[in-house]
Amino acid sequence: MSKILKWIGLGLLLITLGFALIFGLSKSARKSAQIKALGKISDVAVKRMTSNPEAKGSVAADFINIPIEARELSKGLWQATGVANAHIVQTDAGDVMFDTGLATQVPKQMKALKAAIPDLDLSHIIVSHSHADHQGGVKFWKDDKTEIITHVEFGEEQRYLTELQDYFWGRNRTLFPFMPEKVPTIGLIAYGGVEPTITVHNGQSYSFSQGGVDFEVMALPGAEGADNIVLWLPQSKTLLSGDFFGPLFPQFPNIFTMRGEKIRKPVEYINSLDAIIALGPEMIVPSHKDPVTDKTLIMDGLIKMRDATRYVHDATIKGMNAGKTVETLMQEITLPPELALPQEHGKVSWAVKSIWEYYATWFHFDKTTELYGVPVSSVYKDIVEAGDELRLTEKAGSYVDAGEPLKALHLLDIVLGAQPNNAPALSVRKLALESLLKTAKSTHNNSYEIYWLNYRLRETEASLPQ
Ligand SMILES: [Zn+2]
Repeated sequence: MSKILKWIGLGLLLITLGFALIFGLSKSARKSAQIKALGKISDVAVKRMTSNPEAKGSVAADFINIPIEARELSKGLWQATGVANAHIVQTDAGDVMFDTGLATQVPKQMKALKAAIPDLDLSHIIVSHSHADHQGGVKFWKDDKTEIITHVEFGEEQRYLTELQDYFWGRNRTLFPFMPEKVPTIGLIAYGGVEPTITVHNGQSYSFSQGGVDFEVMALPGAEGADNIVLWLPQSKTLLSGDFFGPLFPQFPNIFTMRGEKIRKPVEYINSLDAIIALGPEMIVPSHKDPVTDKTLIMDGLIKMRDATRYVHDATIKGMNAGKTVETLMQEITLPPELALPQEHGKVSWAVKSIWEYYATWFHFDKTTELYGVPVSSVYKDIVEAGDELRLTEKAGSYVDAGEPLKALHLLDIVLGAQPNNAPALSVRKLALESLLKTAKSTHNNSYEIYWLNYRLRETEASLPQ
C-alpha cells in the first residue's frame, strides 16, 4: 500500500517539476518537455505494475510487457506496438494517424514512429472510440491544424466515461489489482478532453484522398461501444479496425463488458459486420496485437462472427417469446459446432443475458421485490436464525462435492450475508470458487470470468482466520 502512495507521490512530484520547468518555454519545446517528463513517470509506473505479484499470469498485464517498436505492415502503413497500437498512414501530402495509444506510452511510441518517418507531418488523427487506450495520445500528437475525426457519439461516450471515472476505476482495480490506486487526474495524462473537428454519423462515412491515398472513415457501432469507427483503405483493401473485433480474431464478440459500461446493441453489431463483409478486406489491423493477413481466415472469420452473433440473438428472442427465464436461456443457448468460436473475451451466456436486458431491461417480471429497494440479502440473517448456519454450510459443502458449486454459493451468500466472518462457510466458499475457476479455465478460458473469480478468491482468503 505504502509503495503505491510512494509511486503516486513520485508521479505528482515529477509532473509538478515538469510543469514548473516548462512554463515559459515555446509551445513545441513545452510539448517535448511534457513528453519527456511523462516518459519518466510511465517507466516508474510500468516497473511497479509488472513487479506486482498479482500481475503474474494475467492476460491484461501481459499487454504491458509488449515491447514498443515501429513496424511497417505494408507500404506506408506504420504501427507502433504497445498496450494499444498507434498507426500512421504515410502519404506525400501529409500523414494520417489512426488511434494514439495510452497516454503513458506516448513517449516511446512517438519516438519509434518519428525515427521511422523522419518527415512526419500529421494532417488527421482518427480515433476509433473513446476508450483511454485509443485516445490517450491525441493531446500530444495534435497541433492547431490537425483534424480530429471521431464518431458523432464520441462526445457523449467520453462524457459518461469521464463523469463515472471513479466508479470505473474501482471496478478496473478489482479486476486488475496491480493497477495504481488512484485515477490519474493531472494534466495531459488525465482521461478525456478530446474535441473532434469532424464527426461521422451511423450508416455514413467520411472520405478523403491525399497524396494518392484514399481514406474512408466508417461509423460501425455496436462493438466496443456506440462510438466505434474504423478506417478503410480501399486501394490496399486494408481495414484498421480499432477494437471492433477485440484482441483476438475471430472470436465470439464482447457485447457485454464486466467493467460495467453501457449495454451494447447486438443488431447494430451484426449490421456492422455485414458492412465489413461487403468490403472484402484482405488485411485487418486491430489496435491490439497483430494484424491478420490470411484472406480465407478473414472472410470465414467475419461470416462466422456474424452468424454466431445472429444465432445467439435469435435464440434469445425465441426463448423470450416462449416465456423462458433468462437463467434457463443462459444454460440452454450454446453455439452449434459449425459456429463454434473462442469465448476468451466475449461469452455466449453473458451475451444472452445482455440481449435479454437490452430488450427487456432489468425487470424480469418475476419477483415483486425487484421493483423496490429492499434486497433479498436483508433477510439472510432471518433465514440463518430460523435454520442453522452449520446445516446450511454442510449442505453447501455437499453441493461442492456433487459438482454444483453455484448452488453452494447461493447458500453461502445467505450464511455469509448474516455472518461475514463465519470461518467454515468461508472455507466452503473457497472450495466452491476454486471449483468454478477450474471449470472456467478448462472450458472457455474467458479472461474476465477468471479475473472475477480470482478477485473473489483473494477476498475470501483474506477473510479467513490465519
Ligand atoms: Zn482497447
